[in-house]
Amino acid sequence: MRQALVAGNWKMNGSLENNEALLKGLLEQLDDVTAKVAVCPSFVYLSQARDLLAGSQVGFGGQDLSTEASGAFTGEISAEMLNDFGCEYVIVGHSERRDNHGETNELVAQKTQVALNAGLTPLFCVGEHLEDRESEQTEAVIAAQLDAAIETCGIDAFENIVIAYEPVWAIGTGKTATSEQAQEVHAFIRNRLAGHDQNVAKQTTILYGGSVKAANAEELFSMPDVDGGLVGGASLDAAEFAAICKAAK
Ligand code: PEP
Repeated sequence: MRQALVAGNWKMNGSLENNEALLKGLLEQLDDVTAKVAVCPSFVYLSQARDLLAGSQVGFGGQDLSTEASGAFTGEISAEMLNDFGCEYVIVGHSERRDNHGETNELVAQKTQVALNAGLTPLFCVGEHLEDRESEQTEAVIAAQLDAAIETCGIDAFENIVIAYEPVWAIGTGKTATSEQAQEVHAFIRNRLAGHDQNVAKQTTILYGGSVKAANAEELFSMPDVDGGLVGGASLDAAEFAAICKAAK
């Protein structure tokens, strides 16, 4: 169901001490936030997040998951393990997984299905590289990423999938897409879903990610097809992240 959401991707950052200060600081500043809020810490800090966030309005999730249920897969984390710690969300197909770990559209689609099977909400990331944008391949790249998931999971599954449009050239670079650039791709994504099912397309939450900060969040989130944000660097600062959460309605 379409609902404003702001999710923080902590990536490989944090420590017991810093996380505690960050989450306690965040919880103190969310009073007038109406959007859903979530954080995705490193796996090793999930139990800390569960304990600190118990009874609060802030959900949490993993940053990746395995397609396998259990067994000889050293270093991998299964969907059921995420469930065991009370995760609500899991990021799938982040560009850092696609680029640094060779995750293909098909693998990301399988991970999305495995997350859904376990009752987790996938934060399904799509996005183009700078060279794709410069060679006018943005839509073709996003379509291929999206179509793989539609083929594997089926269109109805998108009622339970959150899409995050994250132009790779805007991640961690300080270069944000303009609100018009973001809206253009978000509308493209929603139209592509609508080609399969108009109701599902209306219901699907589509986040923007890529150097979102307090200073640009309100403008980005004011666009009709932008339902919130997936936030990296700025989610590591409680006041900054809380301000971004307030900007999502
Ligand atoms: C991200 O990694 O998902 C992200 C959007 O990072 P940043 O906000 O730092 O660009």
